[in-house]
Amino acid sequence: MIEAPYPELGELLLLIGEAGRRMSDIDATEAAAGNLSVYLGWPLDPRRTFPNIETIPLPEAVPELAGNAFLVSGAGRRLREIIDHPAANLGFLVVDEGGATGQLHTAPSRLFEHLTSEFNSHLAVHRDQVRLTGTNFHAVLHAQPPHLTYLSHIPRYCDEKHLNRHLLRWQPETIVNLPEGIGVVPFTLPGSPELMAATVRSLRTHRIVLWAKHGVIARSDISVKRAADRIEYAETGARYEYMNLTNREMAEGLSVEEVRSICAAFNVQQAIF
Ligand SMILES: [Zn+2]
Repeated sequence: MIEAPYPELGELLLLIGEAGRRMSDIDATEAAAGNLSVYLGWPLDPRRTFPNIETIPLPEAVPELAGNAFLVSGAGRRLREIIDHPAANLGFLVVDEGGATGQLHTAPSRLFEHLTSEFNSHLAVHRDQVRLTGTNFHAVLHAQPPHLTYLSHIPRYCDEKHLNRHLLRWQPETIVNLPEGIGVVPFTLPGSPELMAATVRSLRTHRIVLWAKHGVIARSDISVKRAADRIEYAETGARYEYMNLTNREMAEGLSVEEVRSICAAFNVQQAIF
C-alpha cells in the first residue's frame, strides 16, 4: 500500500528501470529473460509518454480492477534496457469497464508487439493480492538468477523445507528479509494456466517463489525495487549454497539456534528454523 501523494509516472519508470538494471547486474536476466509488471490503483494519465492507444483482450476478466492500470514489460524486451528507454520497452494498460479488455497505451518508440507472455501469471497474482489485501500498489518481477535456478534442478532443493533451511543459513539478514522463506512450484510449462494457478497459491504465503528449472517470481506492495531485493537475497543464499556444495560442504552455516536467536532479537516470526 502506498500513501498519497502518489508517485508520478516518471518516478515509477525510473524505479522499474533501476530494478531491471539490478537484475541484469546479478546475471538474472540474460538477453530477454525476465519480465515485470506494476499495478497502480490510483488515477494516472499516461498519454504524454504513451500517446498511442489500442484495445487488447486481457488473459482473464478482472472486472474488479476496472479503471486501474498496469505498467508491463513488452515481450522479447531486455529488462536492462528499460532504464535508458522506459517508454520503448513498457506498455501502460488501463482495465476497461467489465474487465475483459484493456486500453494499451504505448509510445511511438515502442519496441514490442505484445506484452510479456507471462502477463497471465502476473495479472492473476496482482488480482489475488488486491482482493486479499486491498493494496493500491503491487509489483511482480520474474527473473532467472543462475544459482537459484541451478539448485532447482537438484531434486532435494525442490523440497521447500530443505531449500529454505539450506539457503537461509548463510547471512543473518536473510531470515529477517525473507521470514516466510521461498516458495517452490514444480516445473510446469512457462506461461501455462498450471503455472499461473500454482504461482498465485504460493505467493499468498511467500513473497518470492522459485519456479523449478526456470527462475523466480517475487512480489511487493511497496516498490518494484523491494521485489528485486527479495530476488537478490534469495540468489545470494543460493550462491553460498552452491559454493558450499562445490567446496565439499566444509562450511557450517548459521546453526538453528543461531538463526532462532537472530529472530528473537529482531522479533521475526518464522516457521522455517
Ligand atoms: Zn522466464
